[in-house]
Amino acid sequence: MGIFSGKLRGHHDYDPALITKWFTPKQKPFGNDYNGLGETVKRRAGPLMHGPDTHPWNGMMVWLLIKGKVPNPPIWFVELRCMLLDKFGHKPVAPKKKSGTAEEFKKELNSFLEDHPYIHQTGVTQMRVDYMHQGQKDMSKEYPWIIVLAQRMEYDALAQNLEGNFKIGGHTVHRGYEETHIAAIDTSNWIRNQGYNAKPYGGLTVIPGEWHVMIPPAIKAGIGELAKNGSIISDKLGSAFRLATVLTDMPLVADSFREVGVDEFCLSCKKCQTDCPPGAISNEKQLVRGVERWYVDFDKCISVMLENHGCALCLSTCPWSHPGVAPSLSKKMLAKMARKSDTAVAS
Ligand code: SF4
Ligand code: SF4
Repeated sequence: MGIFSGKLRGHHDYDPALITKWFTPKQKPFGNDYNGLGETVKRRAGPLMHGPDTHPWNGMMVWLLIKGKVPNPPIWFVELRCMLLDKFGHKPVAPKKKSGTAEEFKKELNSFLEDHPYIHQTGVTQMRVDYMHQGQKDMSKEYPWIIVLAQRMEYDALAQNLEGNFKIGGHTVHRGYEETHIAAIDTSNWIRNQGYNAKPYGGLTVIPGEWHVMIPPAIKAGIGELAKNGSIISDKLGSAFRLATVLTDMPLVADSFREVGVDEFCLSCKKCQTDCPPGAISNEKQLVRGVERWYVDFDKCISVMLENHGCALCLSTCPWSHPGVAPSLSKKMLAKMARKSDTAVAS
């Protein structure tokens, strides 16, 4: 164990750096408590990463900023650019609302999104109060729709982490933050231009009081399914992609949840579970806030993630993340599942 860097002592045995240990809360509630691990009653997600001033994880978040950003000048420029975009890049809402049906707006929105260089998959679903973190305001009244934007990460750069080089992967993740930030602002400006309200939440958007989850609406909007590595896997992009959202009152049509074969695949795959340095990925689904689902142990993951530029080994090691693999894997899994259900009906 070092002062600033942790060490892998053995399989699934990670010893964090002294300074990380110092910042880690020493008593409950731990991260898994905030996330509702073991809770039997449904509730909204807790404000783990975006808590109030007195939040016990704030020290850890400050350490994350210092460790990840201070020695990385390229990240400063990304953040500066996004701050400037937030200050000067938002267009006002046009005074006259364009008329049209929800179907027409959805078609135009899809064609705008298809042409955007940083958007590789999208979905729309109704905004719900339970997507807001606890203690945040209910955005669903003002903005009845949530548009989910997905952006593919550069796999070759991210997969450098499999060789022990986490810094390059960390820069890719940050580029993803920047590009989803731009994509969300562009989408929101496109909507505002037609007289409707829109609010972008890209990779680096900071709006206290408006934090919301992105994976649940993304799943509901048909982007993909929740996987054993705690992330969403899409049949187009695999597991290595980033999400952003735009809330709007433009009339739209919801997309539907799509089964893509991920859940079934994860039941018999152990790649991410084996490769996760601290053993944070469990082989079984767990009860989290009243729902049985895949879950990553936050308290085991956080030190490794923090000390290794976001880690992301569970994304790069996943077979679905290899470029071009996800569409055929999904097809294969869906065919296998259909055969299984035919056999069950016949017997
Ligand atoms: S980021 Fe993924 S692989 Fe890395 S420690 Fe966390 S769960 Fe494990
Ligand atoms: S590595 Fe395997 S178990 Fe883990 S998320 Fe990917 S498919 Fe699922």
